[in-house]
Amino acid sequence: MQYKPVQNFINGNFIASDNLPSLDVISPIDGKQLSKVPLSSRAQLNEAVAAAKKAFPSWSKTPIKERVQVFFKYKFLLEKHLQALAQLVQEENGKTKGEAIAEIEKCIELTEFACSLPQLVTGEVLEVSKGVECRTEHAPLGVVASIVPFNFPSMVRNWTLPNAIALGNCMILKPSEKVPLSAGRIAEILKEAGLPDGVFNVVHGNVEIVEAICDHPDIQAVSFVGSTKVAKIVYQRATSNYKRCLALGGAKNHLMVMPDAIPSMTAQNVSASMSGCAGQRCMAASAMVAVGEVDHIIQKIVEEAKKIVPGENLGAVINKESKERIERYITEAEQQGAKVLLDGRGAKVAGKENGTYVGPTVIDHVQSNMAIAKEEVFGPVISIMRTKTVDEALAIENANPYGNAASVFTQNGGVARYIIERASAGMIGVNVGVPVPREPFSFGGWNESKFGVGDITGKSSIEFWTKLKKSTIKWNPEAGVNWMS
Ligand code: NAD
Repeated sequence: MQYKPVQNFINGNFIASDNLPSLDVISPIDGKQLSKVPLSSRAQLNEAVAAAKKAFPSWSKTPIKERVQVFFKYKFLLEKHLQALAQLVQEENGKTKGEAIAEIEKCIELTEFACSLPQLVTGEVLEVSKGVECRTEHAPLGVVASIVPFNFPSMVRNWTLPNAIALGNCMILKPSEKVPLSAGRIAEILKEAGLPDGVFNVVHGNVEIVEAICDHPDIQAVSFVGSTKVAKIVYQRATSNYKRCLALGGAKNHLMVMPDAIPSMTAQNVSASMSGCAGQRCMAASAMVAVGEVDHIIQKIVEEAKKIVPGENLGAVINKESKERIERYITEAEQQGAKVLLDGRGAKVAGKENGTYVGPTVIDHVQSNMAIAKEEVFGPVISIMRTKTVDEALAIENANPYGNAASVFTQNGGVARYIIERASAGMIGVNVGVPVPREPFSFGGWNESKFGVGDITGKSSIEFWTKLKKSTIKWNPEAGVNWMS
């Protein structure tokens, strides 16, 4: 489908952006142009920040129970438009219909959490000595920004948007230039839900606009989700400008498979984890450490992975560069002695020859020093490394610089606990391939998968999007003033 050129959304209106340079928006499904996205400059950001700053006094003074009413309506509108929103995600990102629907369902769950915020931000009060009371309340920060990646055009935005705004902030969203279409539709839906103009703004672009966000004196906090390389740049630049920043980076998640793991369940989980969203998930299994004699499980993984068919139950990767990069990793590993058990290189989907598909790929006997074992591949590829002991498996997991997720497959509770205690990752799975915590638990990794304090979703996000106000109040308990007399 062909869409109108994408526009910035500032102060409740779409702004014609024809005068700005632009990039083509290409669907990974068939390589066709969907639209154009403007590359905004500091001038457009300044307009958006000015609108947000103007909206802040009134929005922040609106009681939180009233503010979340917008998100109750937003949730109902997400439900009402679920199919159309999922179709947009599917077209711009390339994922399957089922995955796109699941993404919007996750947005709904995240919004439900935001609706519960009044229950979680009640503050504290204590009479600390006779006639003296201390109390705390959570105050919003002001204008905040959210910079998001391409792999979840809707969900990652919903990690930040409902919580930040329900807590009284006004937001500038910077979508990925690769998938800019969903953001405009969400702006319309928020307006329909009753969000006042200026509280939510969208500014499109790439590097220049991200740098401008990090530099802008009226932006108080920046949340970023994307690759580790850019997370480091954003974290450094935003904090050097004295902003609060939480920057989530890339990942290399290890699944450790023990000989006592249930073969069919393990194989289903491993193949789903490595291939879901075409492997373009920061929670995807990318490396598997096979401990001891597990050939029978590896054989089942290959059987399961063979059922994953590009264009049917496997979506496309984001673009040509990405497909070439993934295939390069496979070829290089093969040349270095790894054994390709299932080869997804050169995948084609009939009628969609320009789509950017990579088939499911299982590679065995990968060595831990190979690039495919160390780097984020971001494709439907699992690299299997062999070890004799659990400690050797942990040593491989611990040595990787990232720390989003790790999983163990075993029936032995002691082994599971041993790994939970020693894996160097923020989110651990036991017999779970994609250990994403559900609300109200928070999402967030360790090491080079996250820069900054706290987590981006759940209760932990309250600390990021608010600052504490502490009042000490003294009165005369003996006064006994009777105003009614
Ligand atoms: P990316 O880092 O290339 O882009 C993310 C955002 O930064 C985009 O909005 C982009 O426009 C902007 N950007 C890109 N290069 C920039 C630069 N040099 N300077 C300033 N801004 C720049 O990431 P991506 O390719 O869109 O997304 C995939 C990555 O995101 C993967 O590494 C994945 O693991 C990661 N990711 C992490 C999480 C998490 O929770 N840790 C969640 C989703 C995605």
